[in-house]
Amino acid sequence: MQRKYNFGAGPATLPQAVMEQVQNELLDWQGKGISVMELGHRTSEFNELILTPALNELKALMSIPDNYKILFITSGASAQFSMVPLNLLQNKTQADYLYTGIWSHKAMAEAKRYCQVNIALNAEANGFTAIPPSSEMTFSADAAYVHYTPNETINGSEFHWIPETNKVPLVADMSSNILSRSVDVSRYGIIYAGAQKNIGPAGLTIAIVRDDLIGKALPVTPTLYNYKTYADNNSLYNTPATFSIYMAGLVFKWLRSQGGVAAMAEINQRKANKLYQLIDASAGFYSNNIDKSCRSRMNVVFKLPNDNLQQLFLKESAAAGLLYLKGHKAVGGIRASIYNAMTEKGVDALVEFMKDFMKGNG
Ligand SMILES: *Cc1c(COP(=O)(O)O)cnc(C)c1O
Repeated sequence: MQRKYNFGAGPATLPQAVMEQVQNELLDWQGKGISVMELGHRTSEFNELILTPALNELKALMSIPDNYKILFITSGASAQFSMVPLNLLQNKTQADYLYTGIWSHKAMAEAKRYCQVNIALNAEANGFTAIPPSSEMTFSADAAYVHYTPNETINGSEFHWIPETNKVPLVADMSSNILSRSVDVSRYGIIYAGAQKNIGPAGLTIAIVRDDLIGKALPVTPTLYNYKTYADNNSLYNTPATFSIYMAGLVFKWLRSQGGVAAMAEINQRKANKLYQLIDASAGFYSNNIDKSCRSRMNVVFKLPNDNLQQLFLKESAAAGLLYLKGHKAVGGIRASIYNAMTEKGVDALVEFMKDFMKGNG
C-alpha cells in the first residue's frame, strides 16, 4: 500500500498514526469484541472512554475556560449559519458580518432569513484578495453579534488578528483553521468548526459556546438547532456522530503528543512559508494574489500562466502522488490545503514537484 499526499480542502488528510490505530482496533475496540461504529452512544463505554476524553482533550488543547460549553453537533458547519442567529438574536433584529470571502458570504446569506445583516468590514472591492485593516470596521449600534470567518478556505486569506467588538459577542467560523495555532477563546462568544478539515472525519461539528449565550434561542428554533439542547444533554439528546467523535478524540491526543497547538503553529507557518517563498521567487510562473498580510497558512492558492499549464500541472501532480490540488470552482487555479495533518514531508514533496514543473515548462 502506498499512501499519497492529499491536499484536498476537506474532508482532508488525517494523521497516519491515528488512521493506523483506528485500523488496528476497528473490529475489536479495547478488547470489547465490537467496533466503535457498533457502540451505543448511551453506554458507559462511550461516555467514559470516548466522549468525555475527547471533550477534556479539546478543552486542554485550546485552554477553553470553564464558562464555555463544548458541543458536538451533527449538521455541518453550514448549519451554524442558521444556529448562530437563531440562538443569539434574542430581541435584536440586526447582526454585523465581516465579509471577506465565499464562506462569510454564505453565512450572511443564511442570517438574512432571520435578521438585517450589516457588513462591518468589506473585502468585496479588492476582490477578496485582502482583509481590510481593523480600522475600517464599522459596527452598528444595535447588533446582536459580530460574525467572521478567520480563514477563508476557498479564497485563501486568513485573519492574523482578532476583531475587537467591545461587548457584542464575537462569533468565529473556524472550520478551516481551528487548532492550527493558539487562540484566546475568552475573546469569543462562539467558535464553531466542521470536523472534516482540521479535526477528523466528516459528520461532526464542534461549537464552543459561552454559557451566557445558551438558553436564549428564538421560540421558533428547532430543538436540534438550539445550543441548549446539546448543553443540557452533554451532546447526547439524539445520536451524535459517534465514530467521528471517537476519531476526533484520537486526533486531539495525537496533537498533544506533537506538542499541542503552539508546536503545530510553528510547523504550519514553516509549511506555508515554503510554498509562498517558492511562489514569490518564481518570477510570475506561479502567482498568489492575496495580500501578504493575510495569506492563509492553511489553504495556499495560486495560479499558473495559463489554463493549459494548469491542467497539465494537475495531471502530473496527481500522477506524482500529490492529490486534489484543483482549486475551488468559484476561484479556479490551484489550492494546496495544508492542515495540521499534512506533514512537512508532504509539503516538501509538493515544493520539489513545483520546482521541477517550472523547470520543465517555464
Ligand atoms: C468547509 C467550510 C464550511 C462548510 O462546512 P460543512 O460542514 O460542509 O457545512 C463552512 N465554513 C468554512 C470556513 C469552511 O471551510
